[in-house]
Amino acid sequence: MPTQTLDKEVVIIGSGPAGLTAAIYAARANLKPLLIDAPADAEKQTAPGGQLMITTDVENYPGFSKGIDGPALMEEFRKQAERFGTEFMEEWIHTADLSERPFILRTDSYEINAQTLIIATGASAMWLGIPGEAKVPQGFGGNGVSACATCDGPLPGFRNQPLVVVGGGDTAMEEATFLTRYASKVYVVHRRDKLRASKIMQDKAFQNDKIEFIWNTQVQEILGETQAGVTAVRLQNLKTKAEKELPCSGVFIAIGHKPNTALFKGQLDMDEVGYLLTAHRSTATNVPGVFACGDVQDNCYRQAVTAAGTGCMAALDAERFLDHLPVAMPSGDEVTMEGEHVTPDHQAIIGPDGRMVPNHPEMAATED
Ligand code: NDP
Repeated sequence: MPTQTLDKEVVIIGSGPAGLTAAIYAARANLKPLLIDAPADAEKQTAPGGQLMITTDVENYPGFSKGIDGPALMEEFRKQAERFGTEFMEEWIHTADLSERPFILRTDSYEINAQTLIIATGASAMWLGIPGEAKVPQGFGGNGVSACATCDGPLPGFRNQPLVVVGGGDTAMEEATFLTRYASKVYVVHRRDKLRASKIMQDKAFQNDKIEFIWNTQVQEILGETQAGVTAVRLQNLKTKAEKELPCSGVFIAIGHKPNTALFKGQLDMDEVGYLLTAHRSTATNVPGVFACGDVQDNCYRQAVTAAGTGCMAALDAERFLDHLPVAMPSGDEVTMEGEHVTPDHQAIIGPDGRMVPNHPEMAATED
């Protein structure tokens, strides 16, 4: 049962590049944002700071010509958000009621009333769903199976051992290349005969003589023993259907991510995978006052810099939304600070010059 009530103009959920950039902008606009993030939990794959906290070298974030460590970059983001007065809270949000404003978020200790909400909850690693992959004791998850090479690769059990990486995207290439620092050999198992990864990442992996590619193949099962952890994977060639066992001490699953949107299911429009839908050229969701930024709404670019960019957009969108909120007049009319009238159904705002401004994503898309 929440014991304390908080009233906030801007609440941001998530502390990756998107959430923290939104916080920097909202704090500088004097909106005193509250940024809520889940406590660190290995099992639930939550880590304040987002996915960059489990990345080593970030070579493509502008402004760092020599590259920067993921955690170091996020530390800088956080300090910058703190500097302008962002308030931070680490709590699990159990429910989010977006049916009317203020939106209500409930955690163990707090009921938070938010005039605007910025969702920057990011995305989590996907799993194959095969035998042996589940967490210990059901499988070998945490005992040889991982979705994060940078977190687990340096562990003693993987040193000078053969390891398997599953996937054909940039993550798989990055993880395989990283793991060659420790492993005796890294096998990349991919279900097709072509990689999805960018050319530069492919080339890096192809040139690394510790990496061997196993094409047109799926991992059917992860094998192991309680004490020793993972000992092998059972593979199947998808063309010949031939099966074989490949000895290894670790399996790194790198097959993509899914957006963290369970809290908003049934309340916010999403695509079939669960990515939040935002209005054309803005971060507005289908609920006025709720904005989404970063990987939770981006299944295309998914970069730290684009996440930060949309975080900035979300803060500006929230600020403008608050500025345009209608004020009830003694006449019963509702007008905004700019002299605009709000339609009775709250779906549009009529400007002083008679121009109709959509107050809803679908209308915004049609207008363009
Ligand atoms: P992607 O979605 O790009 O790739 C996922 C890979 O996993 C694909 O090769 C896919 O195969 C394979 N896969 C998916 N599901 C399964 C399954 N059930 N069984 C077997 N294989 C499966 O995800 P990434 O995480 O690699 O990359 C996400 C985004 O992040 C990309 O935009 C990428 O560019 C970016 N990124 C950039 C980095 C950098 O610049 N340093 C580092 C890491 C990521 P298939 O190809 O057949 O669909």
